[in-house]
Amino acid sequence: MRIDEVIVPNTLGEALAALKRNPDALLCAGGTELFSDEPADQAGRPRILISLHGVPELRHISRTDHYIEVGSTTTLGELLALKAEFLPETLRTVIRRIGTYAVRNLATLGGNLSAPGRFRDCFPILACMDALAEYRQGAASRWVNLNRLVGNRGTPLIPKGEILTRIRIPLTGWDLGIAHKLGLPRANSGKTSLFVALARTDKRVLSDIRLFYMSDRALRSREIETSIAGKRIPLSSRDMESALGAYASYCARMGVPESSVPRFLDLVRRAFAQLNEGAPA
Ligand SMILES: Cc1cc2nc3c(=O)[nH]c(=O)nc-3n(C[C@H](O)[C@H](O)[C@H](O)COP(=O)(O)OP(=O)(O)OC[C@H]3O[C@@H](n4cnc5c(N)ncnc54)[C@H](O)[C@@H]3O)c2cc1C
Repeated sequence: MRIDEVIVPNTLGEALAALKRNPDALLCAGGTELFSDEPADQAGRPRILISLHGVPELRHISRTDHYIEVGSTTTLGELLALKAEFLPETLRTVIRRIGTYAVRNLATLGGNLSAPGRFRDCFPILACMDALAEYRQGAASRWVNLNRLVGNRGTPLIPKGEILTRIRIPLTGWDLGIAHKLGLPRANSGKTSLFVALARTDKRVLSDIRLFYMSDRALRSREIETSIAGKRIPLSSRDMESALGAYASYCARMGVPESSVPRFLDLVRRAFAQLNEGAPA
């Protein structure tokens, strides 16, 4: 990749001003995604690069009773170093399986959520947790629920020309948290897929459930989740078969290749089984 100019802002204001002057410039945080692409994929990229690495406002972590707020250039390694009460366990599991120790010490959460083309590993769990992302452009800022960054066909709608500045992660407790990574371990490859399930129970009732499968596209149906929530647990065979049937139809509507559907349905079935195993006798 040929770069003609690297802009190194010292403040967020300088970074926003640089992006305003150069709206097509490439933002760079840890660079692990940008500089690991094949040279052929780097061709045609903008030749001005804005490095976010030294912007202190983007590198912070704070916590309230309800959420943790993470600056976008916080590295995955810094997140893993947090105490247990700061970082939800399923999110920790996902991050631990990203790349190597060395990669995680450079790779940022903001970069993971901003990479184009397909979702990266942190997206499904954070979307299930209803995490919010703050985007800034010039003097304007907006908070977006990550679920709104999924297009109709399950592909990413990553904002362009804006800087992702903060990610707010709710600390709501979940009774079930599952994260399965399939395919090449620790790799940044379109051949891996990730399944995440979160569920909350109240006495013997499933009060909330979220299921997200990410392969070449994101699959999550709020409609089916709502239809399962409110059922008594353990879930009956009839409830489970009905939900699996709904997911099979959803896959067909989303154009998921037939060969991939059984794997997804099997993961959903296993999540239900795990939920039932944890149900009070
Ligand atoms: C060996 C190796 C293994 C890997 N394994 C995995 C893996 O298992 N799972 C996985 O998910 N990823 C993996 N990756 C990919 C990568 O490390 C992560 O996605 C990482 O989190 C990207 O963060 P970064 O800071 O390096 O992003 P960068 O490379 O700096 O940027 C990535 C993209 O995000 C944009 N961007 C960055 N920050 C911002 C911001 N604040 N606002 C707006 N846009 C921004 C950039 O313009 C670019 O398009 C791997 C990479 C390597 C080299």
